Amino acid sequence: MRFLLVVLTGCFLLGWTAACSDSHVDETERRVEELLQQMTLAEKIGQMNQVNGRQLDEQMLAELRSGSIGSILNIEEPSLVNEIQRIAVEESRLGIPILVARDVIHGYKTIFPIPLGQAASFNPDLVELGCRIAAKEATEDGIRWTFAPMMDVSRDPRWGRMAESFGEDVWLTQVMSLAMVKGFQGDSLNNPEAMAACAKHFVGYGAAEGGRDYNSTFIPERQMRDVYFPPFQTVIEAGCASVMTSFNDNDGIPSSGNKSLLDGVLREEWGFDGVVVSDWASVHEMVVHGFCEDDKEAARLAVNAGLDMEMESRTYIRYLEELVAEDKVSEAQIDEAVRNVLRMKFRLGLFEDPYLRRYENSSAYAPEHLDAAQEAAEQSMVLLKNDMDLLPFGDNIKRIALIGPLADAPHDQMGTWVFDGEKQHTITPLAAFKQMLPSEFELLYEPGLSYSRDKERNGFSAAVEAVQASDVAVVIVGEEAILSGEAHSLADIDLKGAQSELVAEVSKVGKPVVLVVMAGRPLVIEEEVKLAEAVLYAWHPGTMGGAALVRILTGKVNPSGKLPVSFPRMKGQIPVHYNHNRTGRPARGTEVLLDDIPLEARQSSLGNTSYYLDAGLRPLFAFGYGLSYTKFQYDDLVLGASEIGVSDTLNLSFTLSNTGSRSGWEVVQLYANDPIASVTRPVKELKGFKRVWLEAGSSQRVTMKLPASKLAFWNIDMEHKIEVGAFNIMVGGSSEDGLEGRFWIVEKL
Ligand code: BGC
Repeated sequence: MRFLLVVLTGCFLLGWTAACSDSHVDETERRVEELLQQMTLAEKIGQMNQVNGRQLDEQMLAELRSGSIGSILNIEEPSLVNEIQRIAVEESRLGIPILVARDVIHGYKTIFPIPLGQAASFNPDLVELGCRIAAKEATEDGIRWTFAPMMDVSRDPRWGRMAESFGEDVWLTQVMSLAMVKGFQGDSLNNPEAMAACAKHFVGYGAAEGGRDYNSTFIPERQMRDVYFPPFQTVIEAGCASVMTSFNDNDGIPSSGNKSLLDGVLREEWGFDGVVVSDWASVHEMVVHGFCEDDKEAARLAVNAGLDMEMESRTYIRYLEELVAEDKVSEAQIDEAVRNVLRMKFRLGLFEDPYLRRYENSSAYAPEHLDAAQEAAEQSMVLLKNDMDLLPFGDNIKRIALIGPLADAPHDQMGTWVFDGEKQHTITPLAAFKQMLPSEFELLYEPGLSYSRDKERNGFSAAVEAVQASDVAVVIVGEEAILSGEAHSLADIDLKGAQSELVAEVSKVGKPVVLVVMAGRPLVIEEEVKLAEAVLYAWHPGTMGGAALVRILTGKVNPSGKLPVSFPRMKGQIPVHYNHNRTGRPARGTEVLLDDIPLEARQSSLGNTSYYLDAGLRPLFAFGYGLSYTKFQYDDLVLGASEIGVSDTLNLSFTLSNTGSRSGWEVVQLYANDPIASVTRPVKELKGFKRVWLEAGSSQRVTMKLPASKLAFWNIDMEHKIEVGAFNIMVGGSSEDGLEGRFWIVEKL
């Protein structure tokens, strides 16, 4: 034991991937095997059983004593964690500690912007810090396993869980997923302030048909490998401790019973040695899918597919012993699963210390946590419009009318998947304006509507009067938290209730309007955008959202967020992601739209290209778009070489100038496209980005790197390869415009 402690302490200091990892790995494996040898079949199956702590009763305590539970999620009362661990460690035969799990998605107590908002920051360091803080706060309550990050690439804003995603882009999702995993897990899982992360949902869940949650997906293998796999592979290579299977069936096979995915891709191809956990009851739901006859068959398929731990539906604990006795599941298969679970427990150091210690001295809402949440909210907000430089408020603005149902909605601005954040800690825009506005300002608050679905217009006249008496109207509309997230898909993503009417009434007054939208997804807001001089998309910004917003409106912070997802003009345009494949008849941008079609026009006279007569081709706002209070100019793109080899990296540089009068951040983006390939390729794909700070009036030569390896894709023969030849690149401040260049990749220089 002494030896072990020395090894563990050493590993903690050095970092778990570094020098001591080999001996640590061997030691962990030795301990796993030693324990496994002592376990009965029933005890092994117990480790594969995860149960719901909300139903903690005498029976569950008895199960803990008999070693029939490996993990508990959602223990609502942190003080119970010690009691549960004590029973498991002291009263069960082998004393194996419990994995205490919970969905810590975008903060624990201190709530950060929803992940989609965090993605808009294009700042992985800040995202990592947010998850480090969440892990610190959550581990104090004994939670050592979080079911995050969700890395489902999502391209349909009707899907409520887009809020939990990083949007439509593969590379941005890879970078942000990795940042979250690093934040949760820290340098060493063995650190008591580290939480095991969980890459979810494997796989393709974000492609639910029609954006309806839990719906089937039909993702062909090439797209699966090019789009949906990469975030998972990235975090697994970086040591992500666990993976969760998804609810959906892809092409008829539910993920929780898909052997080629779990055994094949995860274990054999990627060498994953962590835990594969099901989603909530997704093993049992294979029966509902009509994929299995009953729970027993579901348990057999799931375990044989390589699913180690079952969340909640208890088919494993009920049937695995029988299935082994009937030779339908081998004990070797069970052993494999149990090894994975025990390994994670050892890696977390639970055998050394399963208890929570600092419950009395919580760091929840510590000032540095709130500061980080505020910075994350500031960097996540996206300025979509700013006519006549209405923002930030100038000297002429002294009286502000604050309108709208989200102006003071402390619960809703935290967003979806918040179990532990407390609304009394939320700084709403109203509270922030009151605290932060200098005394010469006057604030007139009239919400107009009480909540986002409210259709009652009684408050409109007071709102209009407040605007009449003010220099500017700040109208905060959007969605309540409950309208996005799991199982909260919407067929219509317009503003709900009478919010559009409120915006229209307020705009009729003739005072300048700043429209602020707090929502879990892109909403269809074209009409409202037309009625406002300035528009800021704030997502659900979390605990410090109000303070962040007021700092942006008053110019203390220059907005720098960029859209992680395209905004449709109309919902019928969905999906409208920027990185779609090239069609044989791409739109030219000169097509005739609905209102201009002449009467009795000939069938073929409208252009015969790929666009909508009523919406055109473009989204309302494209991926990567976002304004600043200053202007950035891109010039003089120089490529380090016109030809590189397949193992080389292209260096490129360009001049970025801040031509406006304020300092600010620009998120520079690098896109690439393979114009001729053995399969049709996306018109462009993000391959890199960088946040650059520039003082007003200054310029900088920005350098970026594009490794040729990033241009590989799954070709016509289903090989992951770079196809040599010409490549186009673009650098700019959005996916829609920038400086263009071309270079060649050759086999060997
Ligand atoms: C969700 C998962 C979540 C789990 C546990 C499920 O309904 O799909 O993402 O981790 O519940 O709360």
